[in-house]
Order: sequence, then structure tokens, then C-alpha cells
Amino acid sequence: MDELASFIAITLLIISLLFLVSVPIIIAYNYLSWLIDSLFPPKMDNKKRQILSNNCSFYNKLSSDDKEIFESRVLIFLKDISFSSKKAILNNEVKLTVVGVAISLTFGFKDWGYSRLNRIIIYPSTYYSKITKNKHKGEYNPGFKLIVFSWKDFKHGIRYESDNLNLGLHEFTHALYFSFLKSDSNDACRFIENFEQIIVYLKNENLKKQLLEANYFRDYAFKNKYEFIAVLIEHFFETPSVFKDKFPSMYEIMVRMLNQNPLQLK
Ligand SMILES: [Zn+2]
Repeated sequence: MDELASFIAITLLIISLLFLVSVPIIIAYNYLSWLIDSLFPPKMDNKKRQILSNNCSFYNKLSSDDKEIFESRVLIFLKDISFSSKKAILNNEVKLTVVGVAISLTFGFKDWGYSRLNRIIIYPSTYYSKITKNKHKGEYNPGFKLIVFSWKDFKHGIRYESDNLNLGLHEFTHALYFSFLKSDSNDACRFIENFEQIIVYLKNENLKKQLLEANYFRDYAFKNKYEFIAVLIEHFFETPSVFKDKFPSMYEIMVRMLNQNPLQLK
């Protein structure tokens, strides 16, 4: 019995020591990796650059200096996030197209990574979720730090640039919100502060009535505050001049919230 107790005690001690040693090593590795990426931003090869240019209109509107920043962020994101597919084609074009949307959304930020996102799963088209028992085009799961996309619907969002439907922007907005809830960076604080101002339009019955009567944002926006901001961001990027004409004050809050203005890109 004494031997068993000693064995358990020694095993626990070894596990504790391994834990104590591995945590600082992981932190140091992550910091070093971040430092190297900051000091020596990775360079994109021409093949990937061409794919990005063919599939990301936001990227094409940037200056050459900003394009370089965009490219290095895409490469860092690709290194940090794991992709998998459920019977869908998963090649460089798919990955770069998806990451292009993620980087466009956070391009105004220094804190541009999505801390609450580790994994992206691609389905060929709508898929059945065992959890909700419904068909989905996409979803974000903060618990699993996971985004799921139907590739067919993701592509629709990219191809039709002014129908205010952009599945990629929608799901990445959910991931961004949950990432920023856990961050105290300046970008996160500014985002959350302006987010609170935006949802006043949802909470205030008179303001909400004005939004509904304008018939600009689809009904799904009014489901809850998460869907509200996700749908607003789709409109902000796809039809910014209409958004600004209809709701100038809201548009200005969105500009502050994302620290970028799509109208200045055109
Ligand atoms: Zn949503």
C-alpha cells in the first residue's frame, strides 16, 4: 500500500513538474513566434498573391504597402488556424479566399488575429447540424473556437458583392466579437464600446422601428445583438454608400468600431 501511495505521489509530482516546465515554454514559443513574425513579416509568393487577387476585392483596392501588410497577415493566419473539410475541396484557393475575408474585416486593427478561433471546417454546401437538428450555411462555435462554412454559400458572398449577403463576413464577425470580449487591447476596447452604441438601435423601440421601416437590413438582423452586428457588417462592406445615406450616424459608429471605412477604398 505504501509503495502504491509513493508511486502515485511520484507520478503526480512528475506531472506537476512537466506542467510547470511546459507552460512557460509554450508561452515563450508563442511570444518568440509573434516577435519573429512582427520583425520579419512573411513574404507571399506570386502564385498565392495571384490567387488572393482573383478572389479578394478588398485586397485589390489596397495600396502596395497595405497589400504587403495584408499578405503577411494572411500567411500568419494560415499558419495559426487549422483547416479541414467534410467532403469539400480544400486547396490553397479555398483557404486564401476564406482568409482574405477574415483579414479584410480586421484590417483596421493592430490586434487583427482572432484569439477565439483555432479551426475552420468547410462543407461543400449546406450541412445538417446534429446539435440544432437544422440545416446550416455556416456557424461559429466560441466553445470549440470553430467556424463552419458551406463553401457554396461562402462563394455566393464573394461573388455577389452588393446583395448584402456575405457568409464569410457574418461568421468572422461572430468570431471577432467573442475574441474581443476576451481581449483588453485598444482595438478590442474601441470595438466593444462602439458595439454597445450600435445595439442601442436595437434596444430602443423608436430607433428599431425606423430601421425596420427602412427595409434595408434583413429580418434576421433583429434576432439578437450578435446577429444584428453581423448583418450590419455585411451591409457595411457590401453597400457602404447606401448604408451611409440611410443611417449616417450608425455608419460613423461602424467606421470607429472597425477603424476603417470601405468608402475610402473605392
Ligand atoms: Zn449569425
